[in-house]
Amino acid sequence: MKIAILKETAPGETRCAASPETVKKFIGLGAEVAVERGTGEHALMADADFEAAGAAVGSRADALNGAGAILCVSGLDDAALAGAEKGALLVGALDPIGRRESIEGYAAAGLEALAMEWMPRISRAQSMDVLSSQSNLAGYKAVIEAAGLYGRMLPMMMTAAGTVSAAKVFVMGVGVAGLQAIATARRMGAQVSATDVRSATREQILSLGAKPIFVEHVAGIEGEGAGGYATEMSPEYQKAQAELVSGHIAKQDIVITTALIPGKPAPRLISDAQLATMRPGSIVVDLAAEAGGNVEGCVAGESVRRHDVTIIGAANLARSLAADASALFARNLYNFLSAFWDQEAGKPVLPDEDELVKGIRLTKDGKLVHERLA
Ligand code: NAD
Repeated sequence: MKIAILKETAPGETRCAASPETVKKFIGLGAEVAVERGTGEHALMADADFEAAGAAVGSRADALNGAGAILCVSGLDDAALAGAEKGALLVGALDPIGRRESIEGYAAAGLEALAMEWMPRISRAQSMDVLSSQSNLAGYKAVIEAAGLYGRMLPMMMTAAGTVSAAKVFVMGVGVAGLQAIATARRMGAQVSATDVRSATREQILSLGAKPIFVEHVAGIEGEGAGGYATEMSPEYQKAQAELVSGHIAKQDIVITTALIPGKPAPRLISDAQLATMRPGSIVVDLAAEAGGNVEGCVAGESVRRHDVTIIGAANLARSLAADASALFARNLYNFLSAFWDQEAGKPVLPDEDELVKGIRLTKDGKLVHERLA
């Protein structure tokens, strides 16, 4: 089978869906790989690197011609796919809810669209999980951005001129991004505390050398819940959490919020009045900005200043680490396609009843087939 890797069409997208490493691996499976010229230009992957790995590099039309699978990071414009073969797989983070019209366009073009961000969160699919691979980088970058803007040091330092005290970093939401934010802030020498509604995260926070700050006496979420995700909390819990945050946040220098609830707006965790209690020069990075934000007054994609506190509405931070983000995303795609590779057929075979396939298949035979799009 021929696999096409196209240049991304989404505004601001810097990543690409293959790396020289995954090109080699696909060829090792018996596939042919065609890369559109300039695909890796923002991700430090030159056309020559793809060629050296065995890919044919050429125009978009050349890449699409005869391709049985098309790989992308963000969903491609319908226009960019003109000339794609009927029945070809289109695999990437297609944003099915936000880009419904494009998904309908994929169906009309006869493509079989697979949305990688809907991959079930089960152990078998961990290596295919694009949300995890990208959130991990975002958690790291959130701390780096905050440290860059913070006018003080993160580590405690004893110098001949005197002692500088360590910065206090508070991480709210301890999923994949939050865990990496804790680890990064710890490596930089900050004093770190963290909170979540899932009590299973308490041990993880401790194991990273940070201090857990949890609502006590009101039930949170025991264990991992459905698929490991949080749900909306009771009004009683929300009130107790607000009191807890009010008591803690005034003593913090940097706050990183990452709390998300699948299918719902992000929970509001920090109010304007709470921001006003932070000391001037504090930095808040809201990784949930695109889902409505955890912080009152946060604007996605922008930095705003309120009460002398800078609030960064972080959007798509993984894009600012394009080389590593692409390499990991590309491996997620390879891990998915290779898991279903049928040597005899020389291509991936995706059984209708497979849990992973059901989770991510949006269109087939000209129709929308996913229950969430019904
Ligand atoms: P997420 O991005 O959906 O949410 C981030 C964190 O915010 C979560 O830990 C959540 O509990 C927390 N949160 C939600 N509401 C909150 C509130 N009001 N206050 C404080 N915190 C709040 O989460 P994620 O990073 O996608 O990870 C969620 C879970 O999925 C974790 O248990 C993770 O280990 C698991 N996971 C499993 C796999 C897999 O097995 N394939 C892959 C990735 C993640």
